[in-house]
Amino acid sequence: MAESGAPATVYFDHAATSWPKPDAVLDAMRAAILDAGGNPGRGAHRLAVAASRTILEARGSVSKLLCVPEPRDLVFTAGCTEGLNLAIKGLLRPGDRVVVSSMEHNAVARPLNMLAAAGVIVDVVRADQYGRIDADVLERVVAQSRTRAVICQHASNVTGSIQPVGDLADIAHAAGALLIVDGAQGAGHMRVDIGALGADVYASSGHKGLLGPQGVGVLYLSPEIEPEELKQGGSGGNSEDPMQPRLRPDRYEAGTSNTPGIAGLGAAARYLAHNGTGIIRLERDLTARMYEGLLGIDGLRVLGPPPGEERAPVLSVVHERIECDRIAFELDRNYGIAVRAGLHCAPWAHESVGTLESGALRFGIGYGLTAEDVDFALAAMRAICG
Ligand code: PMP
Repeated sequence: MAESGAPATVYFDHAATSWPKPDAVLDAMRAAILDAGGNPGRGAHRLAVAASRTILEARGSVSKLLCVPEPRDLVFTAGCTEGLNLAIKGLLRPGDRVVVSSMEHNAVARPLNMLAAAGVIVDVVRADQYGRIDADVLERVVAQSRTRAVICQHASNVTGSIQPVGDLADIAHAAGALLIVDGAQGAGHMRVDIGALGADVYASSGHKGLLGPQGVGVLYLSPEIEPEELKQGGSGGNSEDPMQPRLRPDRYEAGTSNTPGIAGLGAAARYLAHNGTGIIRLERDLTARMYEGLLGIDGLRVLGPPPGEERAPVLSVVHERIECDRIAFELDRNYGIAVRAGLHCAPWAHESVGTLESGALRFGIGYGLTAEDVDFALAAMRAICG
């Protein structure tokens, strides 16, 4: 029990944002504010230089973790949404055709819906009942007409399905198209080698599997592409130039950076460099344990890939009688278990797997959870659904 008398939090909402964060993240953010509190890239005094160094080191650490060959190609953003908006709006023009998976989050769907109204052609490839995109099906859609870009998530925040993004990179490139990957549920939860993956764009949140704070994200842009920047403004240098500099990463990071957030993300990347493999293994084991337990509860449908298939640490369920909001409320109030219920900002994905009406109750598994927590959550589910 927490001091207030309420049950202590058992946090199963990692797919929304990870919690808690490693101590190293908090320490780095505190140090950034106390000891590197100047404006990065602006000024030659010691606090400004320390701020610049903090960002440089963080860019190096995250690039190393995600195997980005040139750190200047890794842009810090405010989150995955901002990165996807930058890539989508910066690359697509009226008349371009884009092929997109039906599992996409609103961070992809909404910018595309807006661009569709301005003349971008959007063709959606339907996932199967498990929320998986079939690379052969997508290849046939790409072949139907000239395609500027393929957009697909690395893993689904609704079903946990892992999409074949490596194959999609080959398919897109063979057709002369770009591949844009939404890695919000990928980075940190699985090994990501951006250099080997071959995607032209890989956007991710900093605050989910990467264990950084909220308000920071990463965007990889291959050196071959030059998307328009989303915003123009101060870049700390060449102030006499009336136009936004084209130099990376400055071009895409106008305005004062979120130095404490970036410092936290850099520390998280260094933490994951040492502990990430163990965390991924543990998440996999806990997900399998939870999946098995959920399958044994009467009246529950577990979304996503069938047992035995690799999946991201996301488990969503729908009960045949009890609304998911109701279950989420009881889990929180009576057990202190934090989950998410509803449409998860991904109506396309719910439409794809037949849960647009019901929504789903989602367990997001991640850093800090234990087998005992999983067993506790399963017992709570049995009690509520029984
Ligand atoms: N894409 C997916 C698949 C997501 O799960 C999320 C977060 N729910 C986003 C994009 C948006 O990420 P952020 O909150 O970092 O903007």
